[in-house]
Amino acid sequence: MKTGSNSSKQLRSLLRSPACHWVGDGFPVRTLFAYPQLGAKLSPFLMLDYAGPTEFPATEKRLGVGEHPHRGFETVTIVYDGEIEHRDSSGGGGSIGPGDVQWMTAASGLVHEEFHGRNYARRGGKFEMVQLWINLPAKNKMNPPHYQGISDKHIPSVKLPNGEGRVRVIAGEFAGSTGPSKTFTPMSVLDIRLNCASKTILPVPDGWTTALVVLKGSARINHTHVINAAETAVFDRTGNTVCIDHAAHLTALLLCGEPIAEPIVGHGPFVMNSSEEIQQAIVDYQSGKMGHLS
Ligand code: MN
Repeated sequence: MKTGSNSSKQLRSLLRSPACHWVGDGFPVRTLFAYPQLGAKLSPFLMLDYAGPTEFPATEKRLGVGEHPHRGFETVTIVYDGEIEHRDSSGGGGSIGPGDVQWMTAASGLVHEEFHGRNYARRGGKFEMVQLWINLPAKNKMNPPHYQGISDKHIPSVKLPNGEGRVRVIAGEFAGSTGPSKTFTPMSVLDIRLNCASKTILPVPDGWTTALVVLKGSARINHTHVINAAETAVFDRTGNTVCIDHAAHLTALLLCGEPIAEPIVGHGPFVMNSSEEIQQAIVDYQSGKMGHLS
């Protein structure tokens, strides 16, 4: 549906900060949204885990999660502080630090491990990262796995007017800059830093899912709603801007994407379209078809 003239997307719901739980022994996370409740509303975005901000003491131990599978979607890891080391059975891998992004397309399936980077672990210190799960359309769920390691220097940073802040374009397009990540469906993933006393208007396509995930600081929307750390504002799809009235030391992700209008059936590390496909994923994993780490 086309609305024609400029209209700002209205706030649909606010997701408050959830409790923390551990993923392995390396990631104290809050799940800011998840598909069992919000899959249709937030499509193509399935889940977002926010780890930290916290401090880890120096250690020789490998902290994180060992070998485990994924099928049917992509995992996107964004590091703010600390370091993540990843290795997968399709040959992808690498270590990423502050500002870097790892965009892993699990698709037909792989196994991988996710640990704190060795150098970071030895010195310890601040740790903060996000892992976002993005769905794949049915026609791409059985594609071969793929890995994009995207370093900070390849992510364009757009300065906002009046020294209000900046927008790093991880994927999609913002103000004429295009992010380096290749996506299967149209979307944008924007790392926003904003500090402003007056209105900032961010363009977002009409009809797209839109969520503002506040990691640090706060944002005020529609003059009344204040979104604080670890909270998410979900907007209506109708409208072509997001309007932030006021932001204080805000670090946020603005997630926008064309919804995938297909059923979502997930189980643990697998997200498919039917329970038969989930059963098949379990069989394929157990029989070694998703590979092993050497
Ligand atoms: Mn994983």
